[in-house]
Amino acid sequence: MPNFDVIVIGGGHAGCEAAAASARVGARTLLLTHRLDTIGVMSCNPAIGGLGKGHLVREIDALDGVMGRVADAAGIQFRMLNRRKGPAVQGPRAQADRRRYRDAMQAELSGTENLTLRAGAVDDLLVVDGRAVGVVLADGTEISAGSVILTTGTFLRGQIHLGERSWAAGRVGEAPSIRLGERLYAMGLAMGRLKTGTPPRLDGRTIAWSRLEGQAGDPPPVPFSYLTETIESPQVICHITWTNPAVHALIHDNIHRAPMYSGQIEGIGPRYCPSIEDKVVRFAERERHQIFLEPEGLDDHTVYPNGISTSLPEDVQHALLRLIPGLERAAVLQPGYAIEYDFVDPRELRSSLESRRVSGLYLAGQINGTTGYEEAAGQGLLAGLNAALASSGQQEPVVLDRVDGYIGVMIDDLITHGTQEPYRMFTSRAEYRLLLRADNADQRLTGLGESIGCVGAVRSERYRRKRKSLDEIRAFLSSVSATPAQARSVGIAVKDDGRRRDGMTLLGYRDGGFEALRRLWPQLGALPEDVAAQVAIDAHYAGYLERQAADVAALRRDEALKLPESLDYDGMSGLSNEVRDKLKQHRPASLGAAARIPGVTPAALTLLLAHVQRRGRRTAA
Ligand code: FAD
Repeated sequence: MPNFDVIVIGGGHAGCEAAAASARVGARTLLLTHRLDTIGVMSCNPAIGGLGKGHLVREIDALDGVMGRVADAAGIQFRMLNRRKGPAVQGPRAQADRRRYRDAMQAELSGTENLTLRAGAVDDLLVVDGRAVGVVLADGTEISAGSVILTTGTFLRGQIHLGERSWAAGRVGEAPSIRLGERLYAMGLAMGRLKTGTPPRLDGRTIAWSRLEGQAGDPPPVPFSYLTETIESPQVICHITWTNPAVHALIHDNIHRAPMYSGQIEGIGPRYCPSIEDKVVRFAERERHQIFLEPEGLDDHTVYPNGISTSLPEDVQHALLRLIPGLERAAVLQPGYAIEYDFVDPRELRSSLESRRVSGLYLAGQINGTTGYEEAAGQGLLAGLNAALASSGQQEPVVLDRVDGYIGVMIDDLITHGTQEPYRMFTSRAEYRLLLRADNADQRLTGLGESIGCVGAVRSERYRRKRKSLDEIRAFLSSVSATPAQARSVGIAVKDDGRRRDGMTLLGYRDGGFEALRRLWPQLGALPEDVAAQVAIDAHYAGYLERQAADVAALRRDEALKLPESLDYDGMSGLSNEVRDKLKQHRPASLGAAARIPGVTPAALTLLLAHVQRRGRRTAA
């Protein structure tokens, strides 16, 4: 039986990142997926990033993950979303050439040391004494491993719906994963069913572009990766069109044929990414809905109409396109459809993404109830690191908390609250938004990545140089100061209070950019753009960040108060039955995690705190 340290099942966004991370830290890793040519395929929209999601990509990149670099290689339109709002909520996004993305990901993984790629369908898991020790392929081959990561996306007992038609599939044209789904149920994992959908694909040569509003990307494009200097691919324009009351009336007339409304679909769909039939029913007062026409590639005529995901029957899809300006003659290359699939309740997992029930088994991506490539990749990276570290005998897993990054926020949300609908990242999910910016992901995570051993030499060197520049410039700005008169002489509107202000403080003023500061201190000289931007943002938010520091310290203190997984809640007097049941179900890893479980009262937390302190005293004695 061939042997690996880590086996990753699935070659989607979670699987790619998991396999790359595991191999990066030196584990002999096998990525097993149905077909090697579908590794890195984007199942739905040809885009990476966006609000909250762009933050995740930067964090993955900061830990030397692959998604950011691959997206930079494949990006054909880059935009910084929310550019007019504060830096905390700005999100990098890129339209990707679907084929280039897949090819770049396959090239990246093929060239990764310690990583073997193999085609095969996994039908079963080998579990011995409650520990995952390998997999069984559909042809009966057994492969053993120290840890196993499941990243099966929408494939577990997947069922496609298109109007009145419905068939078993993992994605259009691909077989579902039925046996493995049944095996997970049999193992007693809490599971449920979710749904997602995709729009019809159109032939761009049949769209009346000249009648539509165009939208260009940012000049120059801002890359995702801290390692990418410039974007080399040609950049394209997207176009915008709208639905109208006639489209909405047609949908209403045919709503009984929509699987979502006919009762054919039971799974819950993404509230924030609804189908067009859902939008028309839920937002009946709206006269129109926006549609972005996104090119799928530079050498591809396929267009992805973002905004009209649907599982209405094909004849209705054709009819509704006839009513949309610019799309009246659009030829459909592939109809839209919905897919229902099994997911595992993420409360089954620890913050390392290891199953509580089966040790050595890690889950990442859509299987955990999330939606989106970036959410999948972020989990994949963490699961990959932890599976690799565990198989090398390391006891302490890598855990990211809510202050470390959006990856930490996402995992904490999932394992604490579970999810009733496909979970998607938003900046509003993070309470420490000013800290967790897309621009400073490297400052937050690359050092940690180095200590874990998942950051390569090239990135380490780049990071070290940037850090040095940042430290030098901050030290300089803290060492110089100016009077109000001096500041005003260079256009910084400072109160005339006779107080000297240091350079960092002046930089934080609305009109105190580097240009003004250079007139006071010419020795500042030219600075790398990213370094200047970073220091300016930090200076601008210094006051808020200081105020947040107390909250952050409190969170970290509560997270440090660990609750053992074996804690006997039944033997703890003073807990109400309701709280006791919740604690037994969630088994929070820390006092902080217990506090975030809805319904766990301050009184219960006090009891838990007393327990942790007693334990601490016993251990110390
Ligand atoms: P996937 O990308 O699905 O990859 C799963 C991988 O596992 C595949 O490579 C598959 O071959 C492999 N696999 C599965 N079972 C086995 C097995 N037993 N043995 C070996 N290999 C196996 N996201 C959005 O954010 N917005 C949307 O609107 C949206 N719409 C979608 C519509 C559709 C129709 C689909 C299919 C997906 C949609 N998604 C959407 C979801 C997005 O595609 C996923 O979030 C993302 O791809 C999840 O990545 P993943 O790695 O978890 O799984």
